[in-house]
Parts: sequence; structure tokens; C-alpha cells
Amino acid sequence: MLWWVWHWQLDAAMREARRHADARLALYTSSLDGALARFAYLPDLLARQPLIQSALGMDNPAVIRRVNRHLARVAADSEAEAIYLMNRRGLTVAASNHATPGSFIGHRYDYRPYFRAALRGDQGEFFAVGSTTGRPGYFVSAPVISGPREAGDRQPVAGALAVKVSLESLQADWRQAGEKVLVSDANGVVILSSRPDWRFRHFGRLDASAREAIRAQRQFNGAALEPLGERLADGSLLIGGEPAGGAVGDPVGERYFITSSPLSTLGWRMHYLVPVRPLYASARDAVLVAAAGCLALLLLGLWLRERQQRLWLREREARIMREANERLESRVASRTRELESAQAELVQAGKLAALGTMAAGIAHELNQPLAGIRTYAASGARLIERGREATAADNFRRIQALSDRLATLIRQLKLFARKGGAREPVDLAARLDFVLELLDDRLTRQGVRLTVERPEGSGGGVWVAGDEVRVEQLLTNLLRNALDALRDVASPQLTVTLAVDEAQVILTVADNGPGIEAEVLEHLFDPFYTTKAVGDGLGLGLFIAFGIVQDLAGRIRAENRPAGEGGGARFHVELPCARQATQRHSNEEAQT
Ligand code: ADP
Repeated sequence: MLWWVWHWQLDAAMREARRHADARLALYTSSLDGALARFAYLPDLLARQPLIQSALGMDNPAVIRRVNRHLARVAADSEAEAIYLMNRRGLTVAASNHATPGSFIGHRYDYRPYFRAALRGDQGEFFAVGSTTGRPGYFVSAPVISGPREAGDRQPVAGALAVKVSLESLQADWRQAGEKVLVSDANGVVILSSRPDWRFRHFGRLDASAREAIRAQRQFNGAALEPLGERLADGSLLIGGEPAGGAVGDPVGERYFITSSPLSTLGWRMHYLVPVRPLYASARDAVLVAAAGCLALLLLGLWLRERQQRLWLREREARIMREANERLESRVASRTRELESAQAELVQAGKLAALGTMAAGIAHELNQPLAGIRTYAASGARLIERGREATAADNFRRIQALSDRLATLIRQLKLFARKGGAREPVDLAARLDFVLELLDDRLTRQGVRLTVERPEGSGGGVWVAGDEVRVEQLLTNLLRNALDALRDVASPQLTVTLAVDEAQVILTVADNGPGIEAEVLEHLFDPFYTTKAVGDGLGLGLFIAFGIVQDLAGRIRAENRPAGEGGGARFHVELPCARQATQRHSNEEAQT
């Protein structure tokens, strides 16, 4: 690809350079041809003038002077370097430059081809370095024929008139245009050049006979005629680089390709030299640009690929994560479903177990008093038969007590089934007194030391929102449990405190019994959870207490009292205050 760019750019540059060279060459050839053609007619024109002709016939100094002046004027008008008249022997008799130190007068030019041509009666032209002035120039000549001319006859030639044209200014123009232009003569010797050091050197081969002719005609004033550069295989010309030709001053040498065109004069050729180095440089630059472009494209490609890969990897990671998440979620969902069904089964099993326990407990609780009633009734009937009515009456009383127990049990169960209820102000302190009174018998029997603390300045009332039955039930359950716990205690103590804290009434029931074991503490408020022997407890007391507190929008918790405070268990109940009700109630009391 780079090779292709190189060739393409080099070809394009070459084509362009060649086109330019051809155009310049055409311009310079026509201008040189034009410059030379201007003088072609001049010698013959002058040779026909009687004044000129008369100068050759006689040796009259006055005539020679006139001719000299005339030639000088014509030379000045035509911009010829010199115009001069030679006699048959080639001796200059009159010249435009007669008054200058380099005057041609008295010099012989019979060895010059242009003189010989004129002598033969022809127009002559020649390029040579002036043997008098040392300045190169183009010489054009015409025969001077004495006497009237007659067509067809060969007439005696009296002498020759020659015009020397300097072409130095032309070369200066080429130089100024910065171009390498050469003109070589028929022998291949460079006679005009935009570079002065290339003049009088030759292209190609200069054979011995040509050298001899040049020497005989003193054409180049004895110049060495070194070859100009070296022709390479591809036809280009390498100039410089040769140590011997030091004048060129370029140790590496410069390669040129040449376009040439013939001129109409003397077999001359004009050559236009195009330096090859800039063409190669432009090709090299194009290759560099192309290489840089390729590199940039390559880097871009790599970058795009890398970006694509990164995106792909990121997408893949995201996909993997998504899939993992989805898998996880579906597993969680399925596990949740399993757990839910397992839990449902457990709940179902738990319900059945609880129902079983409850049924067993209720059956036992009911069975005992019923058995007692049956026994007392049977023995009562026998006592009446025997006439012991007094003892039978005692049986009836016992039957009544057992029925009461059954009624209490059933009431509890009904309460368990009952939800909600009224929310009216209830005096917790009064209900406490009532319940303690009911339990007074047990307290005395167990020898319990009871302490009740009430808030000061409350006028004895501590008001909560609820209904009396449930509040009493709550107190009964807590106090009964405490009394149960104090059953085997040496000096049993029961402390009940009532306190009011802003919107809350706080009730604590503490005993110095054995306290509650950690394992029991966890299930304390569960239904049918009991540590007591069958018949002693149903495991509903605290469950009912918990339900009542919930209904009254309060809280209940149990803890073990620190040994420093007497040990045992302590129940802590918070119930919302019924302040407004309290207010209303106390107002009513004040009125009565
Ligand atoms: P029950 O009294 O019928 O056993 P509860 O629900 O009232 O049912 O009580 C559950 C259990 O809590 C009791 O069996 C007992 O182990 C424990 N408990 C309740 N109150 C106390 C207390 N004051 N001291 C020690 N343990 C208690």
C-alpha cells in the first residue's frame, strides 16, 4: 500500500514536472529562436549598402571612419554587441567597436566558419567565445559583394560583414527565474546555461575530430570541455558529486531528468533540467502522510476494538449478574413458598396441639369439680335417707362451692372468647383494692406481707380507660400467679405499685418467689403455656392478661427482680391514662 502511494505520488509529481518543463521549454525555445531571428537579416542588409561596399574597395581613412560610425549607430539601434567588416583575407577593416580598447579592427577572423561561409557567398552563423574580447556570442555573417548583384551568377566576394550577438542577458533571465536551462550545440557542448559553471562542458561523447575542429576554429578559446555530469541508466543526469569537478560544490550530486527540444539554429538543442530530489521528497512526504494515516487508522481500529470488547465484557458481566440475580430471586421465592407452606403446616400442627392441650386442661378442670359434685350429691342423698339432714346440708354447700368453681372456670373461658369491650374511665386503685379483698383469704393463709404503693396527691384514684371486668381480670391473673409463686416461700412478700407518668399509668406486681427461668420467660405470654401441674394451671392467665393489655392499648412485660431488691419476678404494665375522664369524675364527686 505504501509502495503504491510512493509510486503513485512519484508518477504524479513526475508528470506534473514534465508538463511544467515542456511548457517552460517551449517558451524559452521560442524566445531564443526569436532573439536570433531578429539578427538574421541584419548582415545581408548592411552588406548591400554602398557605403559598406565602398569601404572594401579603397583604403580611404575618411570612408573607413564613416563606416565605423555607421556600424556603431546600427549596433546601438539593433542591440548587437558588435558589427564589423572584414576584407577577403579575414582582416577587420571597420567595426562598431572601433573606439573601444577591444576593437576588432586589425584582427583576422579567417579561421572562423562564419567568415568562410560568407567568403563562399553564403550566410554564415556560428557560436564562439570571442577571441578578442573573450566574451561568448552568436555570430552571423553575410558576404559583401562589390559591384551590382545579378541573380544566378556567382559574383566575386569582396569581404564579409559579421554581427556578434551577446546572449548573456538571456541566461540572466533564466537564472532569475530560478530554472536550470541549457543550450547545447551540435557537438553536445553547453554554450548557454543558467548556471555559468556548466558552460563549455559537454553532454555525451565528444569525439576527437569534433575536438580538433573546435580547436581549429578557436570556438571556445581553448576551454577544457569537461563532461557535464554523468548519464544514468534511466536517462537522468547526475551532476556534481565528483571530486574533480569541485566547481559544482555539491559532494553528493544532484540528479535531474531532462526534457529537450531542438532549436532552429545550427543544430542546437535546448534542455530543461528538473531536479529529481524534490520529486522524491514529495513522494516520501506522501508516504509519510499515508503511513501516519495508516497508523492513525490502525490505532483508531485498535481503540474501537478494545472499546467494543470492553462494552461486550461489561454487557456480559451485567447479563451474568442479572441471570444470577434472577436465579437467586427465583430460589428465594421458591424457598419462601416452601417456608410458608412449612409454616402453615406448623401453625396447623401447633393449633391442633394447642387445642389438644386446651381440651385436656378444660376436661380435667371440669372433671374434678364434677366428680366432687357427683360424690357429694350421692352421699347427700344417702345422708337424707338416713335422716342426717344437718350433714347433708353441708354436702349441699360443698356442691354449691364446686359449682361456683365451675362457673368461674367457664367465665374465664368466656372472657377468653370475648374481644373488645368498653373504654370508660376505670379507677385502677379501686379495682386493685377490690381484687385484694377477694384474695384476702389466700393472703392470710399464706402469711404474705403485702405492700401497696400509690401515687401521692391523686386523691386515691388512678384512672385508666377500659372496663372494670377486664381490669379486675388482669389484676387477678397477675396477683394469683404471684401468690402461686410464693406458695413455698419462707417469708413471702408481695409488692404492688401504682404510678402515674404523664399519659401513662404504671402498675408493677413483684414477689420474692423463685423468679422466672429464662426458657419460661420466652413463652410466658403464649397460650396454654404452664409450668404448673395439671389441674393447677391452664397456662391461660398471662395470655389473657396480655390480650387485655393489648385491648387497652398498653404494654406488658416480665422480668426477674435483682437479688438486691428481694429477687423473684416482677410484672410491669403500662396503660394509657384516662385523664379527662378522671377530671370529669372528680368534678362529679366534688358536687355530691
Ligand atoms: P398458669 O398460671 O395457669 O400456669 P399463666 O399463663 O398465668 O398460666 O402462667 C404461665 C407460667 O408463668 C406459669 O406456669 C409460671 O411458670 C410462670 N409464672 C407466672 N407468674 C409467675 C411468677 N410471679 N413467678 C414465677 N413464675 C411465674
